[in-house]
This record gives sequence, structure tokens and C-alpha cells, in this order.
Amino acid sequence: MAPRPRRAGPVAGGPETAGPRVGVLALQGDFREHAHVLAALGARVTLVRRPEELAEVDGLVIPGGESSVMDKLSRTFGLAAPLKAAIAAGLPVYGTCAGLIMLADTVLDAIEGQQSLGGLDVVVRRNAFGSQNQSFETDLAIPELGDAPVHAVFIRGPVVESVGPAATALATLDDGRVVAVEQGSLLGTSFHPEINGEHRFHEYFLSKVRTRV
Ligand code: GLN
Repeated sequence: MAPRPRRAGPVAGGPETAGPRVGVLALQGDFREHAHVLAALGARVTLVRRPEELAEVDGLVIPGGESSVMDKLSRTFGLAAPLKAAIAAGLPVYGTCAGLIMLADTVLDAIEGQQSLGGLDVVVRRNAFGSQNQSFETDLAIPELGDAPVHAVFIRGPVVESVGPAATALATLDDGRVVAVEQGSLLGTSFHPEINGEHRFHEYFLSKVRTRV
């Protein structure tokens, strides 16, 4: 069900809070889970449904959900162009699953007319794990996030089919398929750290936001 553009704006913290101002794109998907994690890590969280809300934040998370719906809503609510401009201007953005699809320069198996915001020099394939293995969990070695493996939950996730020269793979499955990437202030994961208490990606993202602030 498409949310109406209401009840957006600040949800945690306040002007007296020292944490960075981080938005969560709240058009559709599991934005509440991201807001919860970010607030727990000390960020001042704003749910973003309008260009004015986007203008207030120092970083943005694009949640998991359904990328074709998020694409349509972002264009309907006049957010797609400001989002593209913000990404081009260097706003730190972290996309999980559908959010990674939104950030990819090229999307395979998109629905007819589906557009992405772009920014990440990668090709992703939607729903890449097929019907037998749409949802699964696995441990990933990601040295950038420390020695302990990252427990990753995949829910009809995309795979990064190719990583262009501007982007870097951060995590791969045992078979070599790429499932996490970064490029400057942009970060994307095929999986959902926001739902299983794995906060290291959000911490890593917040360090990018703090660096930029
Ligand atoms: N399959 C969804 C899409 O194409 C992504 C799934 C998710 O975000 N959990 O957007």
C-alpha cells in the first residue's frame, strides 16, 4: 500500500542532539527498521518524503522494499530529481536491497519503464536468486567491518553482476557473486543489516556522513 506523504519529518533526537542528521527515504519499504537502527546509533533521524526534508539531511538511507514502486513514488512525489542532484553533489547514501537497485547505474530485469536514481557504477540484477532461493541467510567476511563475519539476510535481493571502475566490491558470496559495494560516499548491500541487529554497516555509513559534515 503506497503511503501518503504525511507524518514525515524528524522522528528522533532534536536540535540539542549532537549526532549527524540522517534521512531515511520513507516512500515505501522497511524504513522504520532503518530509522530505529540509526537512532540507536545516535543519529538525528528524519523520514524523507518531500524535497524539503531531503534538503535538511547530511546523509540518506534508501531502504529495502520494492524498487519499482519506490521509483514510481519518488517520481510522483517530485523526489527523483532532487535525489539525483543530491547524489551527484556527494550526499552520502546507503541503499539496502531495493535501495541498492535505486542507486545502481544499470538495472537488469527491471519492470517496463522502471528507472533508477543511479550513482553507483554497477550493474545489478533484480530478484537474482530465483524462486528456490529468494530468501536465505549466510555469513560474509568483510574485513572493512572487522574480524567477525557479517550475518547477512537476503530477501528477494539483487546481485551485483558487474562492478565498474569507479566502484569497489565489499563483500562476495562463496561463489564470487558481489553483494555489497561502495563508491566514495555511496554504499549498497543486497541484504538487510537493519533487520537482524547487524549495525556495522550503519556505523560505517555514519562515519561517511560524519566525514562529510
Ligand atoms: N525484489 C525487490 C526489488 O526489486 C527488492 C527486495 C527487497 O528490498 N527486499 O525491488
